Parts: sequence; structure tokens; C-alpha cells
Amino acid sequence: MTSSTVPDYSAVVSATGFLRPRASRSLDTFQEHIITSKRTLALLGAGLSAPSGIPTYRGAGGVWRTHDVIQLATPAGFENDPALVWMFELERRRMIKSASPNAAHLALAKLAELNKDFLTLTMNIDDLSERAGHPTDRLYHLHGSIFDIKCTKCNLLLSGDAVSSLTQHDLSQPLGLDDVPRCPTTECDGLLRPGVVWFTESIPRPMMKHIHDWINDPNNHGMNIDTMLVVGTSALVYPATAYIEAARRKGARVAVVDMEKEDPSLLGLEEQDWYFQGDVAELLPKMLEPVIRG
Ligand SMILES: [Zn+2]
Repeated sequence: MTSSTVPDYSAVVSATGFLRPRASRSLDTFQEHIITSKRTLALLGAGLSAPSGIPTYRGAGGVWRTHDVIQLATPAGFENDPALVWMFELERRRMIKSASPNAAHLALAKLAELNKDFLTLTMNIDDLSERAGHPTDRLYHLHGSIFDIKCTKCNLLLSGDAVSSLTQHDLSQPLGLDDVPRCPTTECDGLLRPGVVWFTESIPRPMMKHIHDWINDPNNHGMNIDTMLVVGTSALVYPATAYIEAARRKGARVAVVDMEKEDPSLLGLEEQDWYFQGDVAELLPKMLEPVIRG
């Protein structure tokens, strides 16, 4: 993106800041609401796993600093240098494996477990929510999982043990093209790629349909969504923002918890919504305390 195409958000903020009341900062009113909430949609972003030491693409350190997302996280980048992309993915895999769920993952898992009508959409490719005990039948990885791999030729999807045997590699040695894992299907032999959703790719259709059906559940007698919980992201990322809008149209009050300062021009939060700025691992357990204690 060149500088001329980047919208000037600061102008929007000053133009609308006077007109629209800001989202509430009141922990009391949020707790009064969440304790009676019957139907909740949660959206989780990178800021949830950051306190566990998982960096975002842009925050990736070491040698990856000199590469950009086009090289590391697009189909074109993979085509150009599959070994480089695999090295990056294996490094992230190692980082995720050695990380532990934080207090926010645990609080969310508890909340989801107690509230049967609860759907979680995570943009994180790690498995920290699962390891925190989050109910997996109501957890969708919008951007896939780093522990899945798929074939670039026949679309075979592999996960679990099948993956670990194919991705054993000593990371102290650079990876060559011969080291890139290949499809185990007889006569396919296609290059295997990470099962994550890369930039320029879209969320799998069946998943989108499940989410759409939950939001518009006909068995729910047109029941509203009470709460849209947004954790660890405040950025304008499609389709995440579309889900926030969909929940809002169903009557949801939106609560955002994120390290970043609120940008009133992005999420369109209003008076009945909440914005809590800070470390999610500290804030979220406090916010959910009346529901999850005991
Ligand atoms: Zn294949």
C-alpha cells in the first residue's frame, strides 16, 4: 500500500469524536450485562496469544524481520520459495508448542463451557484455546491451524500425528527444496503446504456457512445475540468486522478488550458498547469473574 491510498484515520476521529459518545469503560455495567447474557459470539485475535509470547507476523523476530508477509504467507510466496515458507512455519510451530495458554485463554474457555449458546471465532492459528480447555465443537479457526497441512495438488488435508511425522526437521539447518514434505497419496507427490489461510486466500466456505447458520439460527426463534466479545484485536480485518456487524444487527452489545488504544473510526462502537484497553490476560479474568468464579 502506498501512502496515498492509506485513509487518514486521524481526520475521521477528530471529525466524529464530538458527535458520537465513546464506548463505555465501566466494568460494573459490563459485568451486569455478561452475567445475564444468554447468547454470545466471541472473536479472538493475536492480542490474546501475545501475552503467551506468540508474536504476530509483523512482530516475528530474528531472521524473519527481513522478510515480508508476501514472501512468507501468500500462495505466490510459497510457489516462489516453498522451503523458506516451511522454515518460517516450523519456527512458529516450535514457538507455539513451547508456549502455554494464559489467564485470558483459561477465562474464555470457562465462559464458553458454562454458556452452551456460545460460538468462538479465532483468527489465531495456534492451539492455545484448545489447550486451555475451550470447547472445540464451538471453536472455529478462521485462519486455519498451524498444525494442519494440505496438499497443493489434490487438496488432501492432514492433521494430528500424520503431520508431525512429515514435519520433523532440525531447524538449525536451512531447509532445501528436497526437504519440503510431499503428499503421501500414491501417485500425487504434490508439495505439502501449511494448512493456514494465507493473505489473499478466503475462509473455507463450509466454515462460513456454519457461522452464518449460527448467527441466523432458525431454531432459535429469531433470538438475538446478547454479547459480541472481541478479544485481542481492534483492527479492521475483513471478515472479522463483518461478524461484529452481523452480531450488532442481532442486537448484540459489543465489548472489546485489547492492548491498543480505541480508534473510534474503526469498529463503530457506541455508548452501549465497552472498550477496555490493556493486557487481556489481566483484564479478561477480571471482567468475567462474576460468571466464571467457583
Ligand atoms: Zn496430494
